[in-house]
Amino acid sequence: MGYLTDSHHDSDSYSEAGLPSHPTHYADGTYRFMRTQPLDPTQPVGYNPCRFIEVEINYADATPTIAADVERIARDMLQVSGLHLRYVGASQRTHLAPPSGRILVSFTRASNDTSMNDAIAGRGGSSSYTSGYPDQTLYYVGGTVTLNADTYNRSTHDQQLLILAHEFGHAVGLAHAPGAELMNADAWGYRLHHWAHGDLTGLARLGELPCR
Ligand SMILES: [Zn+2]
Repeated sequence: MGYLTDSHHDSDSYSEAGLPSHPTHYADGTYRFMRTQPLDPTQPVGYNPCRFIEVEINYADATPTIAADVERIARDMLQVSGLHLRYVGASQRTHLAPPSGRILVSFTRASNDTSMNDAIAGRGGSSSYTSGYPDQTLYYVGGTVTLNADTYNRSTHDQQLLILAHEFGHAVGLAHAPGAELMNADAWGYRLHHWAHGDLTGLARLGELPCR
């Protein structure tokens, strides 16, 4: 099951986007997981890294570039974690009944979603999970990335990509982290251009869950 323990890196292993060319563990940086394994709290709950994570998009109120932007996040996610997000089509849904096995990307507005306000550009997460027999490892089997059209759609495209990466970080299992990380709840103050070292280590670890 291909555990990646590579922890060294150099400039040659970075892509143009400034991301490592393969899942990498860094000694610096901070990351937190949304949920950890009940039988081993050092290990995260995540998606089965050996299956596609299907992504559908509800285009109501969506930005014109959302499909291309999701493709870009998927490409980066595969590179830095080994997790393979795959776009499977348009959706009319606003919720996914668990366990859907999919991540739904949709847009909402504060006017019809009381949990959104101007200070929130989006939210993401995966809450449904199942256990793999026989080792009782828990896996996510469905999640959402919900973007606040009132806020997200007015952001610059560069900001949208950062918000989308942050929300997909949540969707695959990362919680908010302190420090200069894209998963910081106030990441925007850090002028980051992409996932930082803690984010990248957390994503690499999420891709190292055993296959099932
Ligand atoms: Zn967040």
